Amino acid sequence: MKKKILFIDRDGTLIVEPKDTFQIDSLEKLEFLPKVIQALSQIQNLHEYLFVMVTNQDGLGTESFPENDFWLPQQKMMQVFENEGIAFHKIHIDRSFEHENLPTRKPNIGMLKEYFSAEYDLANSFVIGDRITDVQLAENLGSKAIIYGEKHDSRAVLRTFDWLEIANFLKTCSRKASIHRKTNETDIRISLDLDSNLKGKIQTGIGFFDHLLDQLTKHSGCFLDIWVIGDLHIDEHHSIEDTALALGEAFLLALGDKRGINRYGHFLLPMDETLAQVAIDFSGRPQLVWQAEFKREKVGDFPTEMFYHFFKSFSDTAKCNLNIKIEGENEHHKIEATFKAFAKAIKMAIFREVGNHEIPSTKGIL
Ligand SMILES: [Mg+2]
Repeated sequence: MKKKILFIDRDGTLIVEPKDTFQIDSLEKLEFLPKVIQALSQIQNLHEYLFVMVTNQDGLGTESFPENDFWLPQQKMMQVFENEGIAFHKIHIDRSFEHENLPTRKPNIGMLKEYFSAEYDLANSFVIGDRITDVQLAENLGSKAIIYGEKHDSRAVLRTFDWLEIANFLKTCSRKASIHRKTNETDIRISLDLDSNLKGKIQTGIGFFDHLLDQLTKHSGCFLDIWVIGDLHIDEHHSIEDTALALGEAFLLALGDKRGINRYGHFLLPMDETLAQVAIDFSGRPQLVWQAEFKREKVGDFPTEMFYHFFKSFSDTAKCNLNIKIEGENEHHKIEATFKAFAKAIKMAIFREVGNHEIPSTKGIL
């Protein structure tokens, strides 16, 4: 999984910034901001973010700010963090003055080029700082901004004077995914938010499929926006298969490391004479067990053979175990009941208890 980063400012964010000189150049001036140590400790226990310190230290190494004056409080600060088990992956210090406008100086990203790689998930990383330049830095990185303190900026996702609020915010961070899957056969865009019951738009070009995906979003309690352009002039196969693959990928991505979720979900759903049974385990391994038979070739404009294929493809990319059994006579009932049970099982599996940050596996990874 890609690494997420907290790019954390130093002065005015971790430690108090002197109002007159803006320089912490002696041990007497070293003062931690309230609750910052316990908050960082809590965030570190999530095992979700790397801590990277990014700070401008105007004229460091010049007469106006001699090296020793900086390093004494800096080393003391780092010692305190280390003693509390708080580890910084890296520390980036720019020594220039504002008027020089160097590419390394915040909000520029000259010091942070190494994070623009496939190893890091900048879109789900944050900059935490007390100035508008910190918000601009977040924008330049393609990350999100959290403001500690009084500055206002509508681009920030959180503004607070309380470090514990930052910790709580990060603990319950959004579980979203956007997928764009394009091949010669299909062009698919999916937005998924596991924690929003807003209604999205479903548009696959296959009427009965839209109806089923509507059931999925309604009964799972997830926001789903699905837009599909497929080669329907050939047949429905690619559109259904590729939508299922993209949908599974979206769930895998949105669930992240699956911290705090139930992991398992199951549902038994009757519809008139039909009984549909779905059990799911977001185990990290794909497997479909399918016990169902259809007599008709199609329900609406949806080929019945594609139901198996839909769930198989979903299981492959969501990396989940799916166990599905359908009993009944009416083909429409059978498949609609199955989609509703599938949705309800997902709802149970992805449910996350507030305050639970455990990975639901004794292996420690899913
Ligand atoms: Mg600052």
